[in-house]
Amino acid sequence: MSVNSPSTMSDSSAAVPHVSEIAIPPLLGASVAELGVWVQQQGQPAYRGKQIHDWIYNQGARSLSEISVLPKQWRSQIAEVPVGRSTEHFRSQARDGTVKYLLKLADGEIVETVGIPNFKWGKNVPTGDASNLDRLTVCVSTQVGCPMACDFCATGKGGFKRNLTRAEIVDQVLTVQEDFKERVSNIVFMGMGEPLLNVNHVLGAIHCLNKDVGIGQRNLTVSTVGIRDRIRQFAQHHLQVTLAVSLHAPNQRLRQQLIPSANSYPIGDLMAECREYVEITGRRITFEYVLLAGVNDLPEHAAELARLLRGFQNHVNLIPYNPINEVDYQRPESDRINAFVQILQQQHITVSVRYSRGLEADAACGQLRVNKS
Ligand code: SAH
Repeated sequence: MSVNSPSTMSDSSAAVPHVSEIAIPPLLGASVAELGVWVQQQGQPAYRGKQIHDWIYNQGARSLSEISVLPKQWRSQIAEVPVGRSTEHFRSQARDGTVKYLLKLADGEIVETVGIPNFKWGKNVPTGDASNLDRLTVCVSTQVGCPMACDFCATGKGGFKRNLTRAEIVDQVLTVQEDFKERVSNIVFMGMGEPLLNVNHVLGAIHCLNKDVGIGQRNLTVSTVGIRDRIRQFAQHHLQVTLAVSLHAPNQRLRQQLIPSANSYPIGDLMAECREYVEITGRRITFEYVLLAGVNDLPEHAAELARLLRGFQNHVNLIPYNPINEVDYQRPESDRINAFVQILQQQHITVSVRYSRGLEADAACGQLRVNKS
């Protein structure tokens, strides 16, 4: 088994990595079978792999030396083998219970993760009263920074550093789970970075979160701004996850003004690929649309959006803009938002408005950046 650094793995949209391609250590991200192979390479019986699996995924072991069921002598030999856990660099909690974490990775880079609790009866209380917890969603990052540089998003303003590994993505979910002392129910790949520029590690993380952490694929959402050919390739994996496409504009002129990559990947090509995705997978796509006052929130934009999405099995998620420092966009007034919703609904499009959680902790959509050092 390779011990190459995971970052040397090429990023193609090939099949999900299997045992021989797995970069191990770190151990996090590995399946029972992969851990079984690894322990046997150390001269240990395969069942030790199962023990390590249980400890790193269920018991919160951050180092192998904590795993008391392993023989003492072997444990001391492997004590330095990294499990792949980050350390908490900063934590802040918003009034609605949303918690933002800055996590320090092995190479010192820092990445953001957000834990979003949903309480029963609409009670968004940060008391940690688990009996009221209905859902716990984690918003995970897939890259350190982001190369897409969308005009309204804070993450891209700081540039791009590197892809996250499978272990680094899984670690974010375990971190939130352990902090809340509750099982994570939903995961959205909507933190820092563009998931479809890091396909192999994202696919590896999806499989691990599903099989090893035990979160249903239907509870996972991967959000992309759209990368040429990657949506079609993603479809070939026939996953049960939801694909969300960040559209943000109903036409090419406006879209390329907001999203630099739309210049080389026009909206017509993107929509054609989305149609292929629906044909291949039979699954609907969620389209995300950040509402920017006076820019893309006019009634004619809603009508144009409805025309663009005609014939799609679609759902539109409107995200009223969350302010960031660098640009002076505004969030639309609520009557403008309601009018936009109505126009879409009249065209039989299902719409939800996502008022982002965690605003005052700078943990809302588009506000993720590393600004606490
Ligand atoms: N790169 C992926 C994943 C990031 S998702 C993507 O673009 O889909 C982050 C979501 O939050 C996207 O829909 C993004 O467009 C949205 N977003 C970015 N900046 C925002 C802001 N300032 N206010 C509200 N939503 C924002």
